[in-house]
Amino acid sequence: MKYILAVLLVITSSTLLAQKIAITLDDLPFGYSGGFTDEQKIEAFDKILKTLKKHKVKATLFVTSRNMSEATKVILDKAVAAGHQLGNHTNNHYDLNKVSAEKYIADIDSCQQLTGKWINSNYFRYSMLHRGNTRTKRDSVYSYLKEKGLLIAPVTIDNNEWVYNRGYSLAMKIDDHKNMDKIAREYLYHMKEVTARYQKLSLQLTNREIPQILLLHSNPINADYLGKLLDWYKREGWEFVTLDEAMEDEFYSIKDDYVGPYGFSQLDRIKVSRASN
Ligand SMILES: [Zn+2]
Repeated sequence: MKYILAVLLVITSSTLLAQKIAITLDDLPFGYSGGFTDEQKIEAFDKILKTLKKHKVKATLFVTSRNMSEATKVILDKAVAAGHQLGNHTNNHYDLNKVSAEKYIADIDSCQQLTGKWINSNYFRYSMLHRGNTRTKRDSVYSYLKEKGLLIAPVTIDNNEWVYNRGYSLAMKIDDHKNMDKIAREYLYHMKEVTARYQKLSLQLTNREIPQILLLHSNPINADYLGKLLDWYKREGWEFVTLDEAMEDEFYSIKDDYVGPYGFSQLDRIKVSRASN
């Protein structure tokens, strides 16, 4: 009896403590991939889809329409058919620190026009997570999104994974498997570190662990290593949820008042705006 109670206690507490995480991937159909052909991009994306299916993950995928070619549009077909949510990630991936609000808004609109056939959510994700380096710029884009019914998809686990992908793709191009393995190991280690960092920040700011939103990209390193990364989250007791589920948490209704050049985690946005008030 004692044993059964102990087992029940462990099961209950691990359920209560299950950390939630929504998986998002940007720059679809396919991001930086150092000279990949369209066929190779499609094949690599198939691996990402297979991994998501294996882990029963429904992800939210953000489309950068300038990355589309006639051939790679099939990636968007496949993503929708597999039941994933697609959102707008602008046409040209401009840096809002460097272009006007008008130019940026026109670019969001272009993405909507070019990908309306596939986009099946009202989520919008800022390119580079830059929301405007001046208050006027930031607020102009906010007003436009509101008017169009577009919802900002924040990120909490921001991680610069694209830096590892760049090295990995370059090593792949010259068939340097030793370096590919080394970079992949460093990538996985880095993701664990960065996840712990944002868990800690969540506790500091909210006294609890919020459902996190992970930013990744549709790229070669994830074609090969997303499975290992998701295995790790699962082993650590994380539960995969959709972006909709994560965003139901009241944390995502907290307004931040950050204005500045940095594109970073929603947790950092709140930390910085609290510190300046
Ligand atoms: Zn992007």
